[in-house]
Amino acid sequence: MKSSAQKILHEVFGYAHFRGAQAEIVEQVANGGDALVLMPTGGGKSLCYQIPSMMRHGVGIVVSPLIALMQDQVDALLQAGVKAAFLNSSLDAQAARRVEQQLLNGELDLLYVAPERLLTGRFLDLLAQSDIALFAIDEAHCVSQWGHDFRPEYRELTVLHQRFPDIPRIALTATADAPTRREIIERLSLDDARQYVSSFDRPNIRYTITQKHDGKAQLLDFLQDHRDEAGIVYCLSRKKVEATAEWLSAKGFTALPYHAGLDNVVRAKNQQRFLREDGVIIVATIAFGMGIDKPDVRFVAHLDLPKSVESYYQETGRGGRDGLPTDAWLAYGLGDVVSLSQMIETSEAPMERKRLEKQKLDALLGFCETIQCRRRTLLFYFGEDYKSVCGNCDNCLNPPKTWDGTLAAQKALSAVFRTGQRFGAVHLVEVLLGKKSERISQFGHDKLTVYGLGKDQSETQWRGIFRQLVAMGLLAVDMEGFGGLSLTEASRVVLKGERSITLREEQDAPKTSKQARAAEQSKDRATAKAKKSGFEIPENDEPLWQALRTARMAIAKQQGVPPYVIFHDATLLEILRVKPQSLDELADITGVGATKLERYGSAVIEVMAEF
Ligand code: ADP
Ligand code: ZN
Repeated sequence: MKSSAQKILHEVFGYAHFRGAQAEIVEQVANGGDALVLMPTGGGKSLCYQIPSMMRHGVGIVVSPLIALMQDQVDALLQAGVKAAFLNSSLDAQAARRVEQQLLNGELDLLYVAPERLLTGRFLDLLAQSDIALFAIDEAHCVSQWGHDFRPEYRELTVLHQRFPDIPRIALTATADAPTRREIIERLSLDDARQYVSSFDRPNIRYTITQKHDGKAQLLDFLQDHRDEAGIVYCLSRKKVEATAEWLSAKGFTALPYHAGLDNVVRAKNQQRFLREDGVIIVATIAFGMGIDKPDVRFVAHLDLPKSVESYYQETGRGGRDGLPTDAWLAYGLGDVVSLSQMIETSEAPMERKRLEKQKLDALLGFCETIQCRRRTLLFYFGEDYKSVCGNCDNCLNPPKTWDGTLAAQKALSAVFRTGQRFGAVHLVEVLLGKKSERISQFGHDKLTVYGLGKDQSETQWRGIFRQLVAMGLLAVDMEGFGGLSLTEASRVVLKGERSITLREEQDAPKTSKQARAAEQSKDRATAKAKKSGFEIPENDEPLWQALRTARMAIAKQQGVPPYVIFHDATLLEILRVKPQSLDELADITGVGATKLERYGSAVIEVMAEF
């Protein structure tokens, strides 16, 4: 073996310690064993194959389905002084030949290849003539026909095992569920692989789910804590993506739209700016995110409900890969539930599929309305037993108040029943509040016993009650029509008084965003430490922080890579804290390996000297 794992970790990558199971996995693969690695996004999967590739003779072949990601990974490795290259359709024939020659000459430590390229007879022959350290199969869940990332070529990767039985293989994925895991083992013939299953917790992500009164104003409030930070805002429709991006731009943010309907060139450019500039917000449909491994996404905001708990986990998981504090924020209301239900119902999918999607939506609603720790609930959904409460979600930080809502639930359910089980929440709330409207008199709803029966609660409270009853499965949303609510089997028990209902207290909608802001601020003062989740720069260090970021940006531009490929925020923060004055001192900072020290060390020390 060429060099020890610990030495490479420190000298090349500039890290002091392995994380979690990394050390064991590296040892297993470096010794020639197979491994199946399940680790969440940001867990540190890459080192698990990069380091063994450098320890063993020959080149590590990495199968990766995402062209953009290969480029990024190779850029980062080259910056760390590792001999890496990629082969995919973005290279012209001549460039591809050059890489192939490097492979044959044994000049590479790592080679990233797209699966369709790898499977060509020509490439397999090249491999047969080369010295190979290992095969790494990244995003291994792509073998699964049931997942959203299914790639048929992945299923043919067993050829690697057949043709090169003695070369160790390591498969990696951030998809947690047991069926996918079984499918990976079976499809890739990994029966003898050791399995490494990490917790899927993302401790640095703070989850907050709030009722939607005025989505845009609430988003703006949320963003006040995230000025100049990179983040993603998810919306359901293309139209809303564009409107939101425009609106945020008018409010002084750098916000760019991204959805499948945009011109390819525009879309690629917006993505590129998000990756390469500091502090860009991307406003996107779910078309965005796959293959983005920007480490410093500081927040993920949802202006609409995601489709399922899995989607929520995936989408929020794109934040905070670097391990620094990150906010996941979602605002939702009953309107979202109605529109998602309708989308499911009116889709072309077969009945079976619709039922499944409806179940997933219900599970998501349960998650949104829970009064338990969000993290615990989320991980439980993935079959993980999180022992305590996290202290880093809205429910832990501000435990919701609950009340006995049995009587209110009965009133709401009777209002549904008396009006014929076909009206939506807006109308039902008006009836309960005894309001006058043309519709109410037209249908004679002012003659009903429930008319004006709910004056003891505010409009917001009633909206919240209906939303929670839907989430509890006590009301069903009519999906074909216009969001009319109807009773379910379970609601009869409540109407008969045989079941009591605990509800979560709603906060009344602030009138304007300014009032909301004031309310937030007074709350902030009360919980000063707990509130802001993003990392904070001490005021007197702010000029140095900006100078370091400027220097990093200049180097990145000159190298043609995103700034985080030069130094992560975590590295800059440590520099800010330690204030190294010499190259020797800088060498001890996490993320500063020998090559980066040599190339950029003096630039950093120069900046330090000015402060
Ligand atoms: P994944 O592929 O699992 O999403 P990455 O391999 O991209 O995760 O790693 C996530 C981040 O953590 C990267 O920024 C990486 O540099 C950093 N990292 C990984 N391992 C370590 C370690 N042992 N010490 C410090 N940072 C690490
Ligand atoms: Zn919690």
